[in-house]
Amino acid sequence: MKEGIEQLRAAAETWRPDRVLAWAFDTFGETVAISSAFGAEGMALIDMASRVRQNLRVFTLDTEFLFPETYNLIDQVEQRYDIRIERVYPLASPEEQERVYGSALWQRDPDQCCNLRKVEPLRRKLGELRAWITSIRRDQTADRAAAGKVEWDAKFGLVKINPIADWSSKQVWQYIREHDVPYNALHERNYPSIGCTHCTRAVRPGEDSRAGRWSGSSKTECGLHIIQPLASPPEAGA
Ligand code: SF4
Repeated sequence: MKEGIEQLRAAAETWRPDRVLAWAFDTFGETVAISSAFGAEGMALIDMASRVRQNLRVFTLDTEFLFPETYNLIDQVEQRYDIRIERVYPLASPEEQERVYGSALWQRDPDQCCNLRKVEPLRRKLGELRAWITSIRRDQTADRAAAGKVEWDAKFGLVKINPIADWSSKQVWQYIREHDVPYNALHERNYPSIGCTHCTRAVRPGEDSRAGRWSGSSKTECGLHIIQPLASPPEAGA
């Protein structure tokens, strides 16, 4: 599979997003799913995919720290597209995490918090799939700049499909407006990129669109799209 995907990679770069999606559904059937946090890109992608195939599989990593507006949007998506979002939870509840790792881990060690609440759940979910579809765009972060529309995901060991990798934010919003796609109400309040409540703030005029994520730290990614080892719990009394 890996070799075939590497050979297809260059050709897939010429495909439009709907062709990439059709290829993904035809090739992987029930074993491909869209991963979404329901940002603007994710919403455009879900809408597009719903026009290509019915009975989509969409999953989300519910860190249990999402905004109420995000949970509302998940409900809207289920109704509008007549699908059931597969919610993937961390192994530990927020209370259990606090008991083992201490309070406010997201402030002291956000990489470890993201590993526990996003990366491990994603790894578990991807274990049941042959391919996953994301809505990352190359110009979002340096780590995403080399993303292919179809590529082998060496970190998780399956095919990764990024149909709108070459889109701009402007194209995403144009699609949303043209197709009357629902989106997170926080986007209207200067939250261009939305994650957990603890690690997301509104951006100020002139700031980068992802400046509101992990503001004040050098962290720019939760680790889903970059290589990052899973950390161990601290020693007792450490
Ligand atoms: S975004 Fe923040 S709260 Fe959410 S999992 Fe990562 S560090 Fe934890």
